[in-house]
Amino acid sequence: AKTRGLNMISPYEQRMTERLKQRTLLEEELRFALERKQLSLHFQPQFELKSGKLKGFEALLRWHHPELGAVSPDEFIPIAEETGLIVPIGQWVLRSACETMQRILPLCPSSTIGVNISALQLIPEQFPDMVLETAMLTGLPLDRLELELTESELMTSLDSAQEQLTRLSEAGVRLALDDFGVGYSSLNYLRKLPFHRVKIDRSFIQDIGTSKDDELAEAIIRLVRQLHLDVVAEGLESYDQLMRLQEWGCDIAQGYLLGRPMPESELHAFIARNTTS
Ligand code: C2E
Ligand code: CA
Ligand code: CA
Ligand code: CA
Repeated sequence: AKTRGLNMISPYEQRMTERLKQRTLLEEELRFALERKQLSLHFQPQFELKSGKLKGFEALLRWHHPELGAVSPDEFIPIAEETGLIVPIGQWVLRSACETMQRILPLCPSSTIGVNISALQLIPEQFPDMVLETAMLTGLPLDRLELELTESELMTSLDSAQEQLTRLSEAGVRLALDDFGVGYSSLNYLRKLPFHRVKIDRSFIQDIGTSKDDELAEAIIRLVRQLHLDVVAEGLESYDQLMRLQEWGCDIAQGYLLGRPMPESELHAFIARNTTS
């Protein structure tokens, strides 16, 4: 075999090295993101399809780095999870989301705030206490808070998740199964855990009208409704999709068609435009 000099690395190796460098950089920078106040939340509206009423918001984390610019959650959330940084970051997200919701609740009294929760956050047994305490400190009524969990998250330890989520549910906190349909054994979770609603993953909604697979979206909606749970469609982008979802009895929709994620500063005006008195 030929030997290669150090300066003769293959394009593949070069790409891997670049990726590794980028990752290491992000990881180092993420450690300071909280204290340097680079994190913020955006809020995406959710509407009830039957009435057209504004029903809630999902809090979505944003990272703006002074040199790197906006880093996508799909890029930094996995790093936050692998490093354990998601625990303090997740606490900050919950706290800020509750604070914002508490401020806008008078404008939109029957709405809820959805907060994404990662697996690692569920590992410490104090998780339910932390959630209840945060809601109490911010004054947000527990039934205005909705935790969004994915299946992969619950998989790590179903028993302890079951215990913690039951406790929260009994206290009045709402629970949503996120990204439904893309993982596996979802049905098992629906049976075992006290969910109030199910969020159908964007990939199914985007198939509506464009792929023969859109029967899957319809079947999922029917199934979830038969279990007496609310169905939320995420990633709604077209009127065509909206009409079909309405026809199929989907309860709530969220997507660019109805509103993009926005900072709290824009929420007041958005709510004013979308509520009738
Ligand atoms: P997700 O929980 O499935 O959130 C929905 C994602 O879809 C968001 O992406 C949202 O901006 C995007 N979206 C909403 N409507 C549309 C649409 O009509 N079209 C398209 N193409 N996209 C739409 P985002 O904000 O980039 O977040 C990506 C993922 O990062 C989230 O997916 C969630 O898993 C995770 N994430 C975001 N914030 C947090 C957080 O505070 N904590 C945790 N643990 N994860 C978070
Ligand atoms: Ca979510
Ligand atoms: Ca999620
Ligand atoms: Ca999703």
